[in-house]
Amino acid sequence: MYKQAIFAVLITILLALGFGYVVQEFIGGISRGFVAGIIIQFILFMIYRPKKEEPVNNEADEALNTVIDLQTTLVECPCGKNKMYEPIFLNKDNIFTCSTCGSKFRVEIAYESILLTEPISLVNVFDNLREKEKELAD
Ligand SMILES: [Zn+2]
Repeated sequence: MYKQAIFAVLITILLALGFGYVVQEFIGGISRGFVAGIIIQFILFMIYRPKKEEPVNNEADEALNTVIDLQTTLVECPCGKNKMYEPIFLNKDNIFTCSTCGSKFRVEIAYESILLTEPISLVNVFDNLREKEKELAD
């Protein structure tokens, strides 16, 4: 970024000097040509400035950050000396490096389904269990 800025200023000065050298006879001196070259370059820059597409990127970044925030939770290293907030994903190897002990560890996700609705009929559930039992016995 810093080097690019210096390079851009050097190119601008060189182009203005070149322009001033070429037009010095018509404009009355290389210094006037140099100033005219600088002004022309600024005008061209104002006209042809590349348009930034940041709003689109910001929306995508915002959505991504929301997902990451939802997945971020407190993770504890097995050493017991360090806790950190990290994003945990179901389909990813959640491997982290402890900043305290320096060891790598993986977070495993265990989950189970819990029935939230009431069973319609206990008799049906009982019958289904007996059928399953018979299937397993065969
Ligand atoms: Zn640790």
